[in-house]
Amino acid sequence: MKSNYYQATTPSLNLPELIETLETQVCVIGAGFAGLATALGLLERGIKNVVILEAEHVGYGASGRNGGFVFGGFSLDQAQLIRQIGKTKARQLYQLTLDAVELIRKRIDQYQIDCELDESGVLLANWFDDEKSLLKARDFMRAEFDVEWTHWNREKTRAALNTDRYFGALHEAQAFHFHPLKYANGCAQKLRAAGVQIFEHSRVLSIEKQAAKTCLRTANGQVNAQHVVIACGGYIEKLAPELASQLARAVLPIATYVMATEALGDRLASVMQTTAAVYDTRFAFDYYRPMADTRILWGGRISIFDKTPEQVQALLQADMLKVYPQLRDVKAEFAWSGLMSYGRHKMPQIGQLENGLWYALGFGGHGVAPTTLAGEVLAQAIANGRALPQGFSHYGLPRTFGPLGMLAAQCSYWYYELRDYLRA
Ligand SMILES: Cc1cc2nc3c(=O)[nH]c(=O)nc-3n(C[C@H](O)[C@H](O)[C@H](O)COP(=O)(O)OP(=O)(O)OC[C@H]3O[C@@H](n4cnc5c(N)ncnc54)[C@H](O)[C@@H]3O)c2cc1C
Repeated sequence: MKSNYYQATTPSLNLPELIETLETQVCVIGAGFAGLATALGLLERGIKNVVILEAEHVGYGASGRNGGFVFGGFSLDQAQLIRQIGKTKARQLYQLTLDAVELIRKRIDQYQIDCELDESGVLLANWFDDEKSLLKARDFMRAEFDVEWTHWNREKTRAALNTDRYFGALHEAQAFHFHPLKYANGCAQKLRAAGVQIFEHSRVLSIEKQAAKTCLRTANGQVNAQHVVIACGGYIEKLAPELASQLARAVLPIATYVMATEALGDRLASVMQTTAAVYDTRFAFDYYRPMADTRILWGGRISIFDKTPEQVQALLQADMLKVYPQLRDVKAEFAWSGLMSYGRHKMPQIGQLENGLWYALGFGGHGVAPTTLAGEVLAQAIANGRALPQGFSHYGLPRTFGPLGMLAAQCSYWYYELRDYLRA
């Protein structure tokens, strides 16, 4: 079983390691979508004096492993968002994610990033025989967020997806899907062409605050920066406990899984008559999409336990066969996992510590658009001194209690999985 399909289909950038001392205006730690979007946001506001330090390679974390769905919203669902911060702020934050979807689309076009963009939208397929709840979700999005998710009845859904499993769907036409690692690399190439320096294999080992600057040390180099942005996602581990421990303690690294089948050729059309990406209405939902080379990328489940690619493949293939039993003889060729970073409240954590360090973390399993949003608001704050959107200040950095928090997250996932099972 091969591992990450995206890596296997994307040439490495082979960027240098940091082996010198550099002075810079902004240093970003982490070359995932949050770090890259911050650097792009700065560049687009005229700030080129930026260094990105990446422990492994561009897109090594969740950003180069994900499902490739690009849609509005956060890991926290919209109804809870309204309950927690009120309608006005919830609408503002949700709109920022829709703006981020458009910004990603614009950057793909403007920077000519070849990332297998597919504009067929995203389908939320109803797992339950309960049309009312689907229509309720559509009406809610229309009334509260002015967003149109088009209802597809059971027949239309079954004409598009050749399975008896679903009872209708909602189609989010503005959403799209893409090859996330190609997008990450495309952003990195644009940044480098404009003068931003990106170093791979350059893990930040310590952060030291001095009078007017912050010193970041890697194994063989150092960066002295006026501003530092921490964008390490679920891979933050023990980054600089002396200064940033508050951040590492506030996120849980939770794994989720993906596999890619062999190429299906003409047979793909007998399974999916649409190239839209699909997820379903369960809490513990499947997500999948056809890819440009006629494979199906299939993802799902979350876990605090490590799994080998073979174990991931066995789990996901069983999930796929529940929906498409006709794919029984189809082989999975790639299987991998990735770490998401979750705050206790399931909302992104975007802000500035008292010691001046900026951070963008906690995007969970719904982070492609929100990381871009984070890059925008941090770039506006650093470049123009603009305040961060108020809605985010409601969501601070509550402790997640390490292993205990992980266990609680796993138990709550199992509880919701059981609820989905009993409801079906
Ligand atoms: C399998 C999977 C499927 C998903 N599917 C979707 C989806 O379809 N749609 C969606 O919207 N979201 C999805 N998500 C969520 C989304 O991918 C993430 O929320 C988003 O990519 C997070 O980006 P990030 O930049 O915060 O973190 P990451 O992409 O994890 O990047 C963090 C980077 O920081 C680096 N780093 C860590 N520590 C250091 C250090 N000390 N020094 C230097 N560098 C460091 C890491 O090496 C890593 O490259 C999925 C996530 C996973 C794991």
